[in-house]
Amino acid sequence: MKALSLRRELLAKFVTHSGIGRAARVWRHGMRPDVTILAYHRVLPETMSGQSDFDPELVSAWANEFDWQMSYLKRHCEVLTCEELDSALSSSKGVPRNTVVVTFDDGFKDNFLVAFPILKNHGLRATFFICTDNVESGERLWFDRIVTQIGQRASGPIDLPGYQLDFKENELSRKSATDRFLDHLKRVPNIERVSLCQALFDLIPEGSLKANQLHLPMHWGELKEMAQAGMEIGSHSKTHPILSQVAQDDELHAEIHGSKEIIEKALGQEVASFAYPVGKQFSFDARTVKMVERAGYRFAVTYEAGINPLPVAQRFALKRISVERYISRDMFSASILAPDIMLFPHHRNNPDRSSL
Ligand SMILES: [Zn+2]
Repeated sequence: MKALSLRRELLAKFVTHSGIGRAARVWRHGMRPDVTILAYHRVLPETMSGQSDFDPELVSAWANEFDWQMSYLKRHCEVLTCEELDSALSSSKGVPRNTVVVTFDDGFKDNFLVAFPILKNHGLRATFFICTDNVESGERLWFDRIVTQIGQRASGPIDLPGYQLDFKENELSRKSATDRFLDHLKRVPNIERVSLCQALFDLIPEGSLKANQLHLPMHWGELKEMAQAGMEIGSHSKTHPILSQVAQDDELHAEIHGSKEIIEKALGQEVASFAYPVGKQFSFDARTVKMVERAGYRFAVTYEAGINPLPVAQRFALKRISVERYISRDMFSASILAPDIMLFPHHRNNPDRSSL
C-alpha cells in the first residue's frame, strides 16, 4: 500500500513539474473540453487536528493548505461558480479553458469563518450548498453529531432499536463501528434513519460539544454576507436525507422545492444549483433527478468522481473531484492538470467515508 502511494506521489510530482501535466491539459481541452468541479466540506485550522469533538473525515483541507490550493487555482485556472458556469455555457464565448468550480457541502460555520476570508483574499468565488433546517435551527448535522456523540463513549455496546453499535476501548474499533453505522444509515429508509439517529441522540446527550462554533451551521446573516460578496448559495436539501430513501412525495418535494424557496426568500436571490446529500449513485434516483429539474434548478452536483465533458450533457448529475485533507500539493495540482492520468487515487483509497 505504501509503495503504491509512493508511486502515485512520484507520478503526481512528474505530472506537476515536468510540463507534461500542462501539455496534457491543453491536449485534453483541444480534444474534448471539460469542466472540473471540486468538492470540499470543511476547512479548519491545523491546530484543531487531533481534537475529538468533530469528524476529521469531513475536513477537506487544513486552512494553510486551502490557502495554497486557492492560490494555485488563481494562478492556473478560471474559477467560476455554478451560476457563472451556466452563463458561460449559454454565451457565445463558451466556457473558458481551465474552468474550475469550487463547491462546499453541508454549510458548516468554518466555511464562513475560515474558507470565506481565504477565498476573498484571492478574489475567488465559490458555491456553498446548505441544509435549510440546520441553518434555521442552529443544530449540528446528523452525521457529524453521530460521530462526536459516539466519541463520548469509552466503549460499546450501544443498543438502538434494531441495531447494536459495538466497539472496544480503542480508536480503531470505535472508528470502524462508526463507519459501519453511518454506512447502514445511508442505506435504510429515511424514516428508519431518522428514528435511529434520534434514539442515539436521546441516549448520549451532546453536552459541552456544542461549544465550538466552527462545528455549527452557518446562519442567515453569515450567508447573506457571503452572497453579497459574490458567493453562490445553493441547496443541499432541508434535512440532509438520502433522497432515494425518502418514500413520500410530499417529503421529497419539501426537501427539494422547499429548501430552494426558503433560501430564495431568506437571501432574496435565485437558487440555481443543488447538491444531492451523500451524492453517490445510490443516494439519488430518476425520481429525485426529475424533481430537482422540475423545481427549477439549473444544475445538480453529485459526489461521483470525475470531470464533466462539454457541452454538459448531465446537468443534473455533474461529477466532482473531492479534496481530502491528506492529499499533497503535487497530488492536488496533478488532479487539476491531468485527472485522467491521476485516476483520482485518493477517491479509490477512501471511496465513501467522506461522501456526506
Ligand atoms: Zn452533505
